[in-house]
Amino acid sequence: MSVLMPVIVGAGPAGIRAAQALVAQGLRPIILDEAARAGGQIYRQPPQGFQRPKSALYGFEHRKADAVHRAMADVMPQVDYRPGSLVWNVEGKTLDVLHDGISTAVPYTHLILATGATDRVLPFPGWLTPGVYTLGGSQVALKFQGCAIGSRVVFMGTGPLLYLVAYQYAKAGADVAAVLDTASFADHMAGLPGLLRAPALLAKGLYYMAWLRAHGVPLRRGVRPVAVQGDERVTAFTYRQGNRTHTVPCDALAYGLALRSETQLASLVGCEFAFSTRDRNWIPRRDAAGRTSVPGVYVAGDGAAIGGADAAELAGERAALALLEDTGHAHDARRAHQLQTRLAANDRVRATLERAFPFPQDWAASIADDTVLCRCEEVTAGTVRQAVRETDAQELNRVKALTRVGMGRCQGRMCGAAAAEVLAQACGLTPADVGRLRNQPPVKPVPVRVVCVERQDKPMPAPQGQP
Ligand SMILES: Cc1cc2nc3c(=O)[nH]c(=O)nc-3n(C[C@H](O)[C@H](O)[C@H](O)COP(=O)(O)OP(=O)(O)OC[C@H]3O[C@@H](n4cnc5c(N)ncnc54)[C@H](O)[C@@H]3O)c2cc1C
Repeated sequence: MSVLMPVIVGAGPAGIRAAQALVAQGLRPIILDEAARAGGQIYRQPPQGFQRPKSALYGFEHRKADAVHRAMADVMPQVDYRPGSLVWNVEGKTLDVLHDGISTAVPYTHLILATGATDRVLPFPGWLTPGVYTLGGSQVALKFQGCAIGSRVVFMGTGPLLYLVAYQYAKAGADVAAVLDTASFADHMAGLPGLLRAPALLAKGLYYMAWLRAHGVPLRRGVRPVAVQGDERVTAFTYRQGNRTHTVPCDALAYGLALRSETQLASLVGCEFAFSTRDRNWIPRRDAAGRTSVPGVYVAGDGAAIGGADAAELAGERAALALLEDTGHAHDARRAHQLQTRLAANDRVRATLERAFPFPQDWAASIADDTVLCRCEEVTAGTVRQAVRETDAQELNRVKALTRVGMGRCQGRMCGAAAAEVLAQACGLTPADVGRLRNQPPVKPVPVRVVCVERQDKPMPAPQGQP
């Protein structure tokens, strides 16, 4: 029997539960994560020696955080955990992994991608002003370093994270100037009947809103951004609510429109993708267990589809059971069925959340022509629209070639969703119609030196027809 070399990318809830299931059957997976400590986004741990208690860091979720951290500690002797390791490429059955400035090749036979998600953002005037952060980024600053992004902060966008992060900032002592939700009251009400099936989730959301209101934080709904004020640094934020515009003085703005799966590695490894109307994103095609179209490659957690932390734990374990089954190991079929049932129930709640916090579909049309869309290459929304007018291009990779949108250091991680929205709107199509950006390595920025050394070290492929 050939040697099994399972690798898990991501030590968040999904990756940790996957590792636990593999270890239970005697496997010793490699776990790669670019973060310094395990836990992923929601259960991100501060650097060693920081003193904030778990109850302050994770609030209502502190017991779950503790359970996930303990699970990781328990499996540590049986896994090869490599923190601070960025997987920047995958080619064939080998991962390119950057650690401490050196890239090494990590071979695998089976791969579980548990890479999580990132914020979805759309541009608006002033979004590149110092002091503007993504919602997730503002939370990372607080959770990891105990820092606030400003002393008077506005939170804008939509999704459960909006109220949670505003609450966390206020609890930590920051002055929250306003919480501005792009969803309307009617949207929230539309999601309410479904959310009654998830009373704990609903209660938490209502609690955050009530707490913020009780502490004098203005909560506004049905908002659209107008502009950030200030050149050197944010000084205020102007927004529109109905027919009226309002300006809130602040020195920082955190914003985001829910989350987007991190799928670049799945793309590089050759997985087929399908458009998810619910996530408004292209995600890897997978079966209920997390098997992708590439044999031996599995996806789990938010990197497979946005499902939240509880679902990520279930999906991680489920993907590991699939791997065990596929490699002839003992696996618990009843447990697998149970996990799938719970994941399906979670999916129904997710659909309801999307109704309560819908993506603002009119935003893309309102982005002014001179607003920068792709910050790496400084491509404006107008440039993309002009390409559509002049060439009739309707496909995202074609527009990338014509305008360089998504061609810079971030490889479209930041601007890809916005470019798709602007392109779709300009063509009168949907984001599903315009396709998805083809991913290229490195999936995240790495020093040029690393890529050059790495390429030199790799044996050149033999010319065709020669051994
Ligand atoms: C910034 C942010 C903050 C969030 N905060 C909350 C919150 O407070 N409450 C809440 O309910 N939900 C939150 N969410 C959503 C929540 O994090 C997820 O639902 C949950 O963590 C998903 O677990 P996961 O294991 O799928 O992914 P994650 O927890 O995101 O873990 C993925 C891991 O993969 C690693 N990784 C990704 N790509 C690579 C790569 N190329 N190489 C190496 N490592 C890689 C990351 O470092 C990360 O540790 C947040 C999401 C984000 C993006």
